[in-house]
Amino acid sequence: MERFIIEILPEGSEYGPRLEEALATDDASRCYVYKGKIMSSSITGRCHCGLVQWIAELPKKVILNCHCNLCRQLSGADYSSWVIFPEKQVEICQGSEDISHYQATDNYSISFCSKCGSTVNAVNEEKFPNDIYLARGNITSDFDMPADLQVYTVDKASWLEINDAIPVFNP
Ligand SMILES: [Zn+2]
Ligand SMILES: [Zn+2]
Repeated sequence: MERFIIEILPEGSEYGPRLEEALATDDASRCYVYKGKIMSSSITGRCHCGLVQWIAELPKKVILNCHCNLCRQLSGADYSSWVIFPEKQVEICQGSEDISHYQATDNYSISFCSKCGSTVNAVNEEKFPNDIYLARGNITSDFDMPADLQVYTVDKASWLEINDAIPVFNP
């Protein structure tokens, strides 16, 4: 029988420590409660055509909206939204052979599905070489946490109003 272990966190707090050690011998599904809502211990995502699928084990490091010129050009959207994880918590569970890579700058590469073109992830090799930026728009599981940070707002699109509710950081 499936058993759920739930860690209850105070209102507004981040994800708590993972329970994996305590649960190593159990078959339980791990859950977290965030703002009163039960969350899974991982999130899943896929490209539009479904060839590429991934899973990432929570907790994430940060949810970022990036307003830099590079993100705008590569995404074709006003800004990019990323959920950043340590590399070891991310697994491409299907279609790794269908992923194409584009080295956009000396330090920044982006990966996308070679069939449908959906962004899969990006890596900032200079600043965060051990982290994976997963494209938030391709998440398929229930994950509605707000962005933690918006960066490079000094380069934001001129037509865009910044959301004042999200903390700003300009490196
Ligand atoms: Zn695809
Ligand atoms: Zn950017």
